[in-house]
Amino acid sequence: MDRFDVIVVGLGAMGAAAVWQLARRGVRVLGVDQYSPPHALGSSHGDTRITRLAIGEGAHYSPLAARSHALWREIEAETGADLMTTTGMLLISSSATRASVHVPHFFRNTLEAADLHGVDHERLDADEMRRRFPQFAVADEELGYYEPGAGFLRPEACIEAQLTLARRHGAVIRTGARLQSLAETGGGVRVEAGGQAFEAGRVLLCLGAWLPEQLPAARRGLFTVRRQVLYWFAVDRPELFDPARCPVFIWELPVADRVIYGFPAVDGPSGGVKVATEQQGVATHPRDVDRSVAPSEAAETHRDCIAPFLPAVSDRLIKAAACLYTVTPDAGFVVDRLGDSDRVTVVSACSGHGFKHSAALGEAVADRALGASAPLIDLDAVRWARFGR
Ligand SMILES: Cc1cc2nc3c(=O)[nH]c(=O)nc-3n(C[C@H](O)[C@H](O)[C@H](O)COP(=O)(O)OP(=O)(O)OC[C@H]3O[C@@H](n4cnc5c(N)ncnc54)[C@H](O)[C@@H]3O)c2cc1C
Repeated sequence: MDRFDVIVVGLGAMGAAAVWQLARRGVRVLGVDQYSPPHALGSSHGDTRITRLAIGEGAHYSPLAARSHALWREIEAETGADLMTTTGMLLISSSATRASVHVPHFFRNTLEAADLHGVDHERLDADEMRRRFPQFAVADEELGYYEPGAGFLRPEACIEAQLTLARRHGAVIRTGARLQSLAETGGGVRVEAGGQAFEAGRVLLCLGAWLPEQLPAARRGLFTVRRQVLYWFAVDRPELFDPARCPVFIWELPVADRVIYGFPAVDGPSGGVKVATEQQGVATHPRDVDRSVAPSEAAETHRDCIAPFLPAVSDRLIKAAACLYTVTPDAGFVVDRLGDSDRVTVVSACSGHGFKHSAALGEAVADRALGASAPLIDLDAVRWARFGR
């Protein structure tokens, strides 16, 4: 049986970061995935992810985002990959809206997080938004938060680059190897995956939307997996969506409970602009989820959530994709023991806002697995204990 210091199971956003961080520390590490990441069956596909520094879901996450920005630049320098583009981010809201991103008071929390962590930003009124960002048909009562250091990440390239670096530093990567069993032995943890048995001192479970099925029943129910749909629409005035003049955006719409977010035309006008809503619909499972997108779904989203607010985004659909959020009751992360011992750590899919933090989260969990401190992560905020389980 092959023996490793650490085994990382799941090599999406979280696992790819963790396996690279472990490999660069010189430990013997195995990374295992049921598929061949990056892939389009979990939570880390769809060309782009927003990254921002003032974190409205919880100001304690801001240091992770800032550290991740430094790491993305380091990975770019080491691999030559293009991972992060700074476009600025415009967050639009109003006191009249009932919508809020992931948590209550997201807009206010974002302003407070920016002040707390000294994140460069501007507060804009409707006239100023119309003057600077004519792509957005804002109403008089809407307010803007503009963060110039925000932008977008290329998730598939981030995963690919970190797996490349992990291999370069000696990590063993097994793809097409599904986790079959996990058991603590006297001296470590025995892992069976892809028909082979391995042993390690520590295991990190970074299973994304598949994590709940590995948990005891009492904790499984803390996660809800929801289908999310991403749309790429053609634009009528491409010059408005050039990344040089169009920020990434998040909009708490003035219509009931709807949030949209989106990106400039990151692959030129022929690639269209990606816009998505946040779906609160029925719970699903990665095994059963409908990954196709009906034309009627796209037409309805365009009519209700895009046309009134982004008038230069046409209803010509270029492509669409379904993706998975795995959300806890407080929309926070879980990084904690699987059971009673420190040997197996769970790293959750992070409730629909984890990608921007994944590089630093991988670093933090690698340090923890090796018994070092991980000062950037607020451990109390990410433990099971906050749910009383
Ligand atoms: C539509 C959408 C939009 C988002 N937008 C943003 C955004 O703008 N900004 C942001 O910061 N975050 C965003 N997020 C959240 C972010 O993308 C996720 O937090 C992150 O991708 C989760 O990564 P993960 O590694 O947990 O999951 P994944 O990347 O899905 O990786 C899990 C891996 O585990 C493997 N696995 C599972 N079970 C097993 C098993 N039994 N054996 C072996 N391997 C297994 C899977 O094959 C998979 O490769 C978004 C998410 C979605 C879905």
